[in-house]
Amino acid sequence: MASDSASPTRIEPDFSSPQGREHYDEALRSYPGQAIVDLRAMRDNMRRLVEMCVRDDGGRAAVMGVVKADAYGHGLIPSALAALAGGATWLGTAQAHEALLLRRAGIGPDRCRILTWVYNGHRVPFDDLIVHDIDVSVGSLDGIDAVGAAARRIGRRARVHVKVDTGFGRNGFTPEIFDEALRRLRPLVDEGLVDVVGQWSHLAVADSPDVPEFVASTDRQIASFHEFTRRMAQAGMRPVIRHLANTAATMSRPDIRFELTRPGIGLYGYEPDPSMGRPSSYGLRPAMRLQAQLSTVKRVEAGHGISYGRTYLTPDDTTTAIVPIGYADGINRAASGFDMQGARHVDKPGGPVRVRTASGPRICHVSGRVCMDQFIIDLHGDAGELNVHEGDTVELFGPGRGEDFGEPTADDWARAGDTISYTVFTCLSNRIPRLYEHAYEVVDARDMAMLDEASLL
Ligand SMILES: *Cc1c(COP(=O)(O)O)cnc(C)c1O
Repeated sequence: MASDSASPTRIEPDFSSPQGREHYDEALRSYPGQAIVDLRAMRDNMRRLVEMCVRDDGGRAAVMGVVKADAYGHGLIPSALAALAGGATWLGTAQAHEALLLRRAGIGPDRCRILTWVYNGHRVPFDDLIVHDIDVSVGSLDGIDAVGAAARRIGRRARVHVKVDTGFGRNGFTPEIFDEALRRLRPLVDEGLVDVVGQWSHLAVADSPDVPEFVASTDRQIASFHEFTRRMAQAGMRPVIRHLANTAATMSRPDIRFELTRPGIGLYGYEPDPSMGRPSSYGLRPAMRLQAQLSTVKRVEAGHGISYGRTYLTPDDTTTAIVPIGYADGINRAASGFDMQGARHVDKPGGPVRVRTASGPRICHVSGRVCMDQFIIDLHGDAGELNVHEGDTVELFGPGRGEDFGEPTADDWARAGDTISYTVFTCLSNRIPRLYEHAYEVVDARDMAMLDEASLL
C-alpha cells in the first residue's frame, strides 16, 4: 500500500481494489473536482479524542461525534460510521432531519445514542424523533410543551436534554426563565412522558485558551453551568449526562469533560482555531483533500487582465491555468486574488493551489476573482518548461503533508477568505463528489450496504 512517506508527492488516492480505481476514473470523467475523504484518518481522529477523554481517576467521558451539516461537508453516513469505528458512542446533529437520516440508514439505538438540537416548538417531528429513539434538546418553553404533547400522543417517553444558556446567547434557558422551565417540566416527568437524561450548554470562546479574558469568560460559563445543575437538583431532576465541551474544550479543559464531550472539527482533523497550534500537535490529521483537474492552460502577455473586474493584471509574461470549480462549488469568492498595478495598487494573494511542475510542487494562488464555475491561477512561468498541462490534477487543500509535499490546508483557504476552516468544508456544494479512502478497512462488512459503492476507492 502506498504511504505518504514513501511518495511525498503522491496525488493518487490509496485504492482498496481495482474497482476503487474504476470509481475514481468514473468520478473524474463526470466532474472536474473531487473531495477525497480518508475514513481511516477520521476513525483515528476519533480514537485520539476518545483517548483524551480518559479522566485521571481512570473514568472516562463518552464522546459524541458531531456530524451536523452533512458531517461538516464530509458526508453524513460514512463519517458517522468512521466516528463509531473510532469509539464514539454518541452522534449529534443540529437539524432533526439529519438525526432521522442516521437512524433510517440503519444506525440503530443498539449502536449509539443520537442527540439533535435545532427546531422550533411548533413544527418539529418530535413524534418521529421519539419513535426512532433519538434524544432531543429542549431550550424553550414552547419546546417543552411540544415534546410533552408528542410523547403523550404516541404514548412513548421522550429522552430530553435540558439546554441552558450559560453565556453563549444562542439556544437554551436563561437563569431568569429557568424556574418556569422547571415548573413546566415537572408534571411531564411525573406523568412519565419525559425523562430528563441530560443537561447541556455550549461555550463561546473555548478556542482561545491563550487569551486570559476568554479563559475567565469560559470559567464564568462553567460556574453558571454548575448553578443550573444545582437548581435542577433542587427541583428533583438529576440528569446523568452533562455535557459542555466542544473540540476546543475537549482538548484544553479536562475539568469539564463531565459524562460526555461533543467534538466536531477535531473528528475531521482540524484544530478549532489556528492559534491553538497545528492539528498534528493534538495527534489529529485532516481527513479531506480537495482536488481538481485543470482545464485551459495558456500563455498570456504581461499586463493581461484576469477575470471579472480586472483585479489581477499579470505582472509578467506568463501562463495561466483554469481550475474548473468556482463559488457555486463552494470556493469562497472572498479568497479571490488581487494584483492591481498602477495608482490603485492592491496586492492580495488568493487561495492557494498546489501544482506539480517539472521542478517539484509549486503553490500558485487564485488570480483575479473566483467565478461561479471556475477560477484562474497564474503559474508564473512557461507551461512547457513547467510541464503543466490541461487535465493535470491540482490540490486546493489536504492534510498538509510536510515540507516536500507543500500542500495547503483548509486553514490556509480560511485565511485567504477571511473565514474559518469550518466554512471551507461545509460550503462545499453537493455537486463535488465525495470519494472515500480506506472504507473497507474502517467500516464493518455489515455496514457497507449503507454506503454508495461508487464513492468507495
Ligand atoms: C457544532 C457544535 C459542536 C462541535 O463544535 P466543534 O467546535 O466543531 O468541536 C458542539 N456542540 C454544539 C452545540 C455545536 O453546535
